[in-house]
Amino acid sequence: MNIHEYQAKELLGAYGVPVPKFRVINNPWETYDALRDLGSGNIAIKAQIHAGGRGKAGGVKLASNAEEAIRLTEEMYGKVLITHQTGPAGKKVRKIMLSEAIPIAKEYYLAMIIDRLVQKPVMMASTEGGMDIEQVAAQTPEKIIVERLLSGVEISPYVGRKIAFGLGLTGKQAVELPKLVLNLCRLFVEKDCSLIEINPLALTPEGEFIAADAKINIDDNALARHPELRRLRDFEEEDPLEILARRYGVDYVKLDGRIGCMVNGAGLAMATMDLIKLAGGEPANFLDIKGGANKQNVVNAFKLLTADPRVEAVMINIFGGIVRCDMVASGIVEALHEIEIKIPIVVRIEGTNMAEGRQILNNAPFKFILADSLADAAKKAVAALPGGAS
Ligand code: GDP
Ligand code: MN
Repeated sequence: MNIHEYQAKELLGAYGVPVPKFRVINNPWETYDALRDLGSGNIAIKAQIHAGGRGKAGGVKLASNAEEAIRLTEEMYGKVLITHQTGPAGKKVRKIMLSEAIPIAKEYYLAMIIDRLVQKPVMMASTEGGMDIEQVAAQTPEKIIVERLLSGVEISPYVGRKIAFGLGLTGKQAVELPKLVLNLCRLFVEKDCSLIEINPLALTPEGEFIAADAKINIDDNALARHPELRRLRDFEEEDPLEILARRYGVDYVKLDGRIGCMVNGAGLAMATMDLIKLAGGEPANFLDIKGGANKQNVVNAFKLLTADPRVEAVMINIFGGIVRCDMVASGIVEALHEIEIKIPIVVRIEGTNMAEGRQILNNAPFKFILADSLADAAKKAVAALPGGAS
């Protein structure tokens, strides 16, 4: 689960990581109150959208007085920001953070993620803060310090000291940064984060570290034990189809292709997407309808797939292992009595009672394109697209 910068800063603040004072507005008319609370200094105006790269897209502005802050806030509110992380459709600005603008002497980069290779949290830091870390990694990888944590739960001040040393810090900063790192580790572990990224971590002319930006992702699988975090989900920022999928209890990831996939089992769903690509097509989604391919699940899956206007053919790939193919076939036929599908449907069902399953599909008053292998199904799905794969 992705959360907003202001929510991330609230969490950081609660864990003792210095953040600037800020207010969040949901409407431009709230700007006055927010500015009164913030006092008379310079103000940073920051679009709260679930995407980075806002600075370059006009989503971060600095104002030196209240009048300018009001004007910039009004201009930003309701705008659609297109950054390298939003996709071409962009994201509409519905919330704006007004914050004390921090005077910045130097920008650092500090982040924590899970290193999947070693299955442990890893800390990353760089003196090249403020810019795209991907660019730093590509051009000057030696400028990124990587420190593995010994385990997920054991937090040692040693990590922070090594990072401070790696960044070339001395004096007060060499004492302060390890404390900050320790707090970050605590937050990461206690709140089951999958990412914390502070870019930039600002060093003020007075020599204080302060998080000028913050991005936090929480592990969805851990939300069951964090009711306090579940509330932070902003549905307006999420893909409506993925919200619907969560309600249906299926695993769904929207992609950009034209072939909607309906599969039981995550591994099979991945293999299905691979084979569609191999056949020259592009999957419109990953969808694991889980074990029970009953009528209701199939109806829900059809609803999900056809809610995506890009989907021009459906490929159903069900392996009857625990679930029987005749039951799956009946589920598909019953579903089609309930929901009208106008695009071609390719079906590959294999496994227990597969002959009976095919019989049911053949006898149904709907036109299916039956396939006799996974590769065959992928080819037929691509061929069924209006205009073919192109
Ligand atoms: P992002 O572009 O979405 O990552 O948004 P950031 O919050 O990182 O802002 C982009 C850039 O604006 C930062 O790299 C800073 O250089 C600058 N910036 C953001 N907040 C402040 C601030 O409080 N003071 C100053 N001086 N610059 C800021
Ligand atoms: Mn940033």
